[in-house]
Amino acid sequence: MSGKRPVTVITGASSGIGAALARVFARHGHRLALVARRGDRLRALADELAAPDEAKPVVIVADLQRADAVRMIEDSLAAHAAEPQYIVNNAGFGLVGTAAALDRAEQLAMIDLNMRTLAELSLAFVDSLARHRGGILNVGSMAGFLPGPGMSVYYASKAFVLSFSEALHSELKARGVRVTVLCPGPVPTEFADRAGISGSLAPTFLTLSAERVAEAGYRGLMRGRRIVVPGMINKAVIAGIRFAPRRLLLALLDARQHRRRSARRT
Ligand code: NAP
Repeated sequence: MSGKRPVTVITGASSGIGAALARVFARHGHRLALVARRGDRLRALADELAAPDEAKPVVIVADLQRADAVRMIEDSLAAHAAEPQYIVNNAGFGLVGTAAALDRAEQLAMIDLNMRTLAELSLAFVDSLARHRGGILNVGSMAGFLPGPGMSVYYASKAFVLSFSEALHSELKARGVRVTVLCPGPVPTEFADRAGISGSLAPTFLTLSAERVAEAGYRGLMRGRRIVVPGMINKAVIAGIRFAPRRLLLALLDARQHRRRSARRT
């Protein structure tokens, strides 16, 4: 053993699903390291989650779109004599609009956050995860099972998260490291605002709270599940998607995103 204390590193803990995941892990007695750009939010959450007679959660204020972000996390953990037992790659965002019309730099930044940093954080601490018999929870999306015209880079980034996490699940099993990909449907968080989505267009029968999604993700990770799709209806939809003709799915999603863009203009 390294003598360092094991922590669960949660990215994007300043709001939404990430904050809910932090509360679930804390409730189960895990020590935390919270990562995002908004330090005030992280510090407030760290105060809320501080357990009596325990070190407060470590707060790491970092822009995960930067190429040196993972090195910064490594340094911050070392300064607190901590090392990861679990990594929760949750930070991410999407953008509504056709890829050719959306800002290219913003879409590349999305790739940096949703894919590059997620991959780097998944790989950077494998020895430590194995030492503590821990794991990785990657937050994908139901979008990862589909092509997504009108949000194409986001959907493709989540397809990467799904494929990469499933493969890692298989590769790291022999080392005792669990890898789970959590694939929620719509969740009311700040995501929609950031993406430019009109909230009313999300199908309500697929919508779950961040708390329910976080609980399902935690349970799935602890049970060593490969994929977690929270919600019975959501699971049925994913099963249907696997058999539906790709051309039909493309047409349906195209029409839905077109309605979203029209709603934004009115
Ligand atoms: P959210 O409320 O907007 O939270 C996004 C989190 O990511 C925030 O904590 C944000 O923190 C962090 N983040 C964004 N850019 C960052 C950057 N450059 N560096 C560091 N942190 C950054 O959205 P959410 O719904 O909880 O999203 C969490 C994850 O769930 C995402 O991966 C998303 O794709 C996925 N998801 C969401 C939904 C949904 O409908 N909400 C559905 C399926 C999947 P700061 O702004 O403080 O940096």
